[in-house]
Amino acid sequence: MKTYSSSLPLPFFLGEGFPSSVPVVRSDRKTVSLELKRDGTFFIRAPRRTDDAFLKRFLASREEWLRSHLKKQELLKEKNADFPQEKLTAEDIRALADEALRDLPARAARFAPLVGVTYGRITIRNQKTRWGSCSSAGNLNFNCLLMLAPPEARDYVVIHELCHRLEMNHSPRFWAEVARVCPDYRTQIRWFRDHGGAIMARMTGE
Ligand SMILES: [Zn+2]
Repeated sequence: MKTYSSSLPLPFFLGEGFPSSVPVVRSDRKTVSLELKRDGTFFIRAPRRTDDAFLKRFLASREEWLRSHLKKQELLKEKNADFPQEKLTAEDIRALADEALRDLPARAARFAPLVGVTYGRITIRNQKTRWGSCSSAGNLNFNCLLMLAPPEARDYVVIHELCHRLEMNHSPRFWAEVARVCPDYRTQIRWFRDHGGAIMARMTGE
């Protein structure tokens, strides 16, 4: 007989303080997946008629993946321990956007001649997924959350977008241009990898 439960005991022990079972969210989907949220909770998404025996085997096959991702999350949490985590209010975001409007266009004006390009309009947005973008018409968009990043990280994003005026891709030629104007760009990329998610998360508070 097949059984369908909404929560399954984990077939392995993750450690003290970790859940010992996992919620199963069933819907009209075709594949099974294990999803890990930023807060360290995880759950299974599954088609309606997937029985528990199958899901147990699936979970067992994802053990290493889950362990390594939880570990990574722990490390990131430690790195971001000194960072504020509270959800930004509408007022906070407005203040950041005001600051960004003063700060980022000045950086673009400073670096454009060094990159050797011109640009169109600059728009400040609040976004959850990107720090900046450059349209084919040469208009630049920047995320107001950049104001929560250090100035050298902001410089890198501005230079990155300006370099897209030369190369609309992330080819070796593009990165060579970035490196010419921003020699420590790898350090900045690492900074965003370590802290970017924590800052973006303050937009939704998740
Ligand atoms: Zn890019």
